[in-house]
Amino acid sequence: MAIDFSVEPEFQEKLDWISELLREEIYPLEVLELTHPQLLELVAPLRERVVAQELWAPHLDRELGGQGYGQVKLGLIHELLGRSRIAPFVFGAQAPDSGNSEILALNGNEEQKERWLYPLLAGEKLSCYAMTEPGAGADPTQLSCSAVLDGDEWVINGDKWFITNASIADFFIFMLVTEPDAAPHQRASQIIVDAGTPGLNVVRELGTLEDAHPRWGTWDNHAVVELRDVRVPAGNILGERGTGFVQAQQRLGPGRMHHAMRWIGQAQRAFDMLCERSLYRKARGGVLADKQTIQNWIADSAVELEAARLMTLKAAWIMDTQGSRAARKEISMIKFWGAKILHDVIDRALQAHGSFGYSSDMPLEEMYRYARAARIYDGPDEVHRETVARQILREYEAPADEVPTEHIPTRRAASEKRFAHVLEQVAGNA
Ligand SMILES: Cc1cc2nc3c(=O)[nH]c(=O)nc-3n(C[C@H](O)[C@H](O)[C@H](O)COP(=O)(O)OP(=O)(O)OC[C@H]3O[C@@H](n4cnc5c(N)ncnc54)[C@H](O)[C@@H]3O)c2cc1C
Repeated sequence: MAIDFSVEPEFQEKLDWISELLREEIYPLEVLELTHPQLLELVAPLRERVVAQELWAPHLDRELGGQGYGQVKLGLIHELLGRSRIAPFVFGAQAPDSGNSEILALNGNEEQKERWLYPLLAGEKLSCYAMTEPGAGADPTQLSCSAVLDGDEWVINGDKWFITNASIADFFIFMLVTEPDAAPHQRASQIIVDAGTPGLNVVRELGTLEDAHPRWGTWDNHAVVELRDVRVPAGNILGERGTGFVQAQQRLGPGRMHHAMRWIGQAQRAFDMLCERSLYRKARGGVLADKQTIQNWIADSAVELEAARLMTLKAAWIMDTQGSRAARKEISMIKFWGAKILHDVIDRALQAHGSFGYSSDMPLEEMYRYARAARIYDGPDEVHRETVARQILREYEAPADEVPTEHIPTRRAASEKRFAHVLEQVAGNA
C-alpha cells in the first residue's frame, strides 16, 4: 500500500520558486498589450532563470532534452504554469510546441532532431500542429489534405484550419493522407514543412470567442492555412508511412493531460478571485461571504478543484507507471471534467463580481472566453465521454438470457436452493 500525497522538500522548493516567479515577474507582463517580438524580448531573461533552475521544457525526459520529472511532478508544475497564459511560454512548455517536441523526440531521426527539435527546445523556433480541416475535426479519419510522393519529394495539397500559431511558426507538422487506400487509421502520415515553403499560405487569422478581431502574427492566434502543390523532401516524413495516427496519439494523450493540469491552475486563480470578492463586497447588511449561495459556490468550487486535481494526478501516475495508453480512460475523464470545472469555477467567480467581472477591468471575462474552447479542442467533450463509456463497458458483459445479475427473484431462487437445508432445519426446529 503506497499512496502518498507528500511532496519532497527539494521539489517543493522548485514549486515555491515557480510561484514567486509568477507573482513577481509573469503576472505584471499579462496586463501589457505586447506584440510577439516584445513578448520574446521581455521573457528572454526569465527563460534564462528558468533554465538555471532546471525547469526548462519540464515535460520531456532527460534523454529527450527535458528535465525528466515524469507526469506527476509535471502535473504540479503545470498547475502553477496554468495560472497565467504567459507562464508556459516562459518555461518552454507552451502548446502546441510542447506536444510537437514530444512528436519530434519520439519519431524524428537525428537529422530531423538537429533541424527542428533542438532549436524548438532551445526556444529558437516556434512550431504549429496542423491536423484539423474544415471537413474533418473530431473524426480525423475524414482527413482529405494529401501528400503524394513524386520522385524524392512530397507534393502536398489541401486546406487546414484552426492552426494555432500558424502565422508566427517557423515550421509546421502536418497530418496528411499519404495512403488513401489503407485502413482508416493507417491512411495518414506526419510531414514537416518549413514556413515560407512556396505554396504554403497562411491565409488569415480566424476571429474567435477568444479574440473576434485578432491582430495578424500574434501568439496564440488560430489561422486558416492552404497548401497548393507544396514540395518538400521525402525525408521530411516522421517515422514510417501510415503511422501518423499512432504518432498523433503519443502527442495527444500527454497533451490533453497537460491542458487539464493547466486548467486547474487557471480555475484556481478564478477561485481566489471569488473568495477575495466574497469578503469585501457588501450586500444587504453583510458581505457576499455571508450569503448561502456564495458559500455553496465556494464549497462546490473547492471540491470540484480538488477532485480534478486528484483525478489528474492519478492519470499522471498511471502514465508514469504503465504508459499513456494504459491511462486512456483517465485522460479522457479529466479532459472533459477539467474543461467543465474550468468553465464553472470561472463562471461563478465572474457572477460574484457582477458587472465588474463582466468588464475587462478584471481578467475573468477573458478567462471565461478562453475556457469555452477547452470543451472543443483536443477532442470535444462528447468524444471523450464516448471513450470513457466504451472503456468502462469493456469491463462488463451482457447477462445470459438478458436477466440482470441483480434480479431479485432469480437471486432469491438461487439462495433458497443453496441454503435449503439450513432453512428447512431451522424452520423445523421452530
Ligand atoms: C482554440 C482552438 C485551437 C485549436 N488549435 C488547433 C491546432 O493547433 N491544430 C489543429 O489541428 N486543430 C486545432 N483546433 C481544432 C480542434 O482540434 C477541433 O476543433 C476539434 O478536433 C473538433 O473538431 P471540429 O471543431 O471540426 O468539430 P466537429 O468534428 O465538427 O464536431 C462538432 C461537434 O459534433 C459533436 N460530435 C463530434 N463527434 C462526436 C461523437 N463521436 N459523438 C457525439 N458528438 C460528437 C460534438 O458536439 C462536437 O463539438 C483548435 C480548436 C480550437 C477551438
